[in-house]
Amino acid sequence: MESTNANRFENKGLVYLIGAGPGDPGLITAKGLQCIERADVIIYDRLVSLSLLQSAPDQAEIIYAGKMPDRHTLQQEEINALLAEKALNGSTVVRLKGGDPFVFGRGGEEAAYLAERGIAFEIIPGITSAVAAPAYAGIPVTHRGLAAGFSVLTGHEDPEKEETDLDWSALAKSAGTNVILMGMGNLEKITGTLLEGGLGPDTPAAIIEQGTRAGQRVLTATLVELAARAEAESFKAPAVIVTGEVVTMRETLRWIEEKPLFGKRIVVSRARSQASNFAQKLEELGAEAIQVPVIKTVPPDDYSPLDRALDNLSGYSWVIFTSENGVKYFFARLKERGGDIRCMQNARICAIGPKTREALEDKGLQVDCVPKEYRAEAVVEQIKDEISEGERILLPRADLARSVLPESLEKLGAMVDNVSCYRTIYGEGDGQLLKNLLHEGAVDMITFTSSSTVQNLTGMLGEAANNLFKNVAIAAIGPITAATARDCGLTVAVEAENYTIDGLIEAIKAYYMQS
Ligand code: SAH
Repeated sequence: MESTNANRFENKGLVYLIGAGPGDPGLITAKGLQCIERADVIIYDRLVSLSLLQSAPDQAEIIYAGKMPDRHTLQQEEINALLAEKALNGSTVVRLKGGDPFVFGRGGEEAAYLAERGIAFEIIPGITSAVAAPAYAGIPVTHRGLAAGFSVLTGHEDPEKEETDLDWSALAKSAGTNVILMGMGNLEKITGTLLEGGLGPDTPAAIIEQGTRAGQRVLTATLVELAARAEAESFKAPAVIVTGEVVTMRETLRWIEEKPLFGKRIVVSRARSQASNFAQKLEELGAEAIQVPVIKTVPPDDYSPLDRALDNLSGYSWVIFTSENGVKYFFARLKERGGDIRCMQNARICAIGPKTREALEDKGLQVDCVPKEYRAEAVVEQIKDEISEGERILLPRADLARSVLPESLEKLGAMVDNVSCYRTIYGEGDGQLLKNLLHEGAVDMITFTSSSTVQNLTGMLGEAANNLFKNVAIAAIGPITAATARDCGLTVAVEAENYTIDGLIEAIKAYYMQS
């Protein structure tokens, strides 16, 4: 009888060998992402999109298996041993590889090693760069009438080998597309061998460098010219080489380069809990969003001012919410203390902007007023005629919020309870990672959505911050954030006219369209 999985793999841990896709973090499978979300240990390779790691649980151990400046690359044997060791500890281990784990990814070797030791594993295939990089360049690997099949080949064979395993002349004669991975070091040899094998010098060919990433570049040329052109334009790894008639389809099918923010690498610095919607919108426009959450909101040090206000809700004639977070923490505390929103029946409700209004509407409240401009000064302008002497106003806000709103309202004769309902602290964003990216020139723009994002990001980078921003455009959600950025010595290139995420995105689009 065939052995079942249960008795073949009697040890406790489990290793998922997962394909992370070719670079664009959206190109991972739903199943792969679910495994990352519950991993105890993640061992990842070079070429894996770092933003995928942000889906890992906070306590997960994350291990890089690629080259590091300060130590040698983990050898395959060491990686195998590490996978086994972590799994035998009982951990759920995610082994994350670029593209597909079984396409030149040595996934087979790792799985065999685990199988020999009775350690359970699962394979979660990924989208290979062999298909995805051409696709993002508008090149289908097969096409009716142009190519009835395709071969995926290595351009980097084991150098010890005397004889090649690949029959290049047969490939040259086949009517299919050739996709060559790891071939940039041997480009001239590869094109030479294909030509010798009988592929015509005019055969359309392409190189896709950094396919599906913001840095994607595409070169098309005839086979005979390809190597020289690639050299002249300094094309380098990681890149796939494609030969065949399908390359001509790019003329009609190129698509990603047409997006307004194509190729732009944009840092999103707002709190992780609020970042994904913004990041997703940037990505839809073709940008690569790099999430470096520099702020995070937590409950206040002292709840007593808020608690007192919650106990006296019926005494307020206005409650003014100045952020979505304010709404979130206010209602969380109300619920925690067994309060009831019906006590607020006497109060008119003001929301500083559309997102805050939506958050209130989600709680079943109708908002009485939203100022035309989404900032504190405009709130005062909007409601000043409706405030009478001695009226009580509640302002549930962040601890660091500006004083202009309470002060102006007090000047109008109101009694203002300005209570802190959350605090903003440093987020979990990786300052070192950001520094490295800035050093490499791998950031085009940094976005700031509040003054605290400016303060924390510059604080995180420390003294040398300003030098790092030389070729980086700074984008601010509104005038207050922009002023804080200027106070920190930054030059603001983009300032939204409409102080919302959508307004900021519009301004970023306009900036790149005119530049
Ligand atoms: N398992 C991977 C391939 C690993 S071998 C996959 O299925 O995609 C590494 C080679 O893959 C690189 O040398 C390059 O040829 C190719 N490659 C990986 N990511 C790439 C990308 N984003 N753009 C172009 N080529 C890529």
